[in-house]
Amino acid sequence: ATPTSIMVGTGKAAESGILFKGGEHLERTHQLEAIVLDKTGTITKGKPEVTDFTGDNQTLQLLASAEKGSEHPLAEAIVAYAIDNNVDFLDVDEFSAIPGHGIDVKISGKRILVGNRKLMNDFQIELDGTEEQLVNYEQNGKTAMLIAVNGKYHGIVAVADTIKETAREAIQELKGLGMEVIMLTGDNERTAQAIAKEAGIDRVIAQVLPEEKAEKVKEIQLQGKKVAMVGDGVNDAPALVTADIGIAIGTGTEVAIEAADVTILGGELLLLPKAIRISHATIRNIR
Ligand code: ADP
Ligand code: MG
Repeated sequence: ATPTSIMVGTGKAAESGILFKGGEHLERTHQLEAIVLDKTGTITKGKPEVTDFTGDNQTLQLLASAEKGSEHPLAEAIVAYAIDNNVDFLDVDEFSAIPGHGIDVKISGKRILVGNRKLMNDFQIELDGTEEQLVNYEQNGKTAMLIAVNGKYHGIVAVADTIKETAREAIQELKGLGMEVIMLTGDNERTAQAIAKEAGIDRVIAQVLPEEKAEKVKEIQLQGKKVAMVGDGVNDAPALVTADIGIAIGTGTEVAIEAADVTILGGELLLLPKAIRISHATIRNIR
């Protein structure tokens, strides 16, 4: 009877858009006590837009040209903004991404840095008088990036990403099912807190470097909890593997989907509580 009810359960889940890679994952879903959600692309739509830019036209040209080589959603937002503003892109001579920090790019003899405070600190860029403005953006849930050209501060670009329509409701349901809900992100603490508040999440782990996401999941496991990790990005893959259950967002990267035990189609977060309810109903039938 056991394998049959598991098959019925995973079949029912699949009809709703919850794809379990195997029946054992449905059984393990039943034991979950905590659920960790990546921010960008998981809780948010992952389609950020530029809301503010404080630099001049030449800075915008350098900024956008520099970001053209990056695959980060933040970069896509900046490039789209520049296209809307009829910017001519310059050729890039050297490009390097610094994970969790930003980018370091050379364009026609100039060195352009775009990224967070950590990046600017590492390169000893003076940021007099920018902190108040940064905090203001961050308190509104925006991701603010600093721009430096040839070692000098040249402006801020702020980007906003809206939370998915059903995020709040899904998180309420997860809590109702007794789950501890945690947000995990590389973004800064204040932006993360603002988004978490909107989504109804109380616990935030922010400023986590891509390679540290799996470690954070392990820490929660060491506190004695069975944990699910939900993510969409390449940088979520190790955490998806580490978690007791890895759940990929169907609209996310192939790498995340391959690393996960479960995929939810269309990125619909209401499928998370649904998966848990199906696991409960299935396991109850077995016992
Ligand atoms: P997330 O978990 O939101 O995907 P990441 O670890 O990729 O975060 O990035 C963390 C931070 O590093 C970003 O919030 C941003 O400040 C900075 N950053 C990353 N990539 C870029 C980029 N291409 N341009 C500017 N800043 C970047
Ligand atoms: Mg993401």
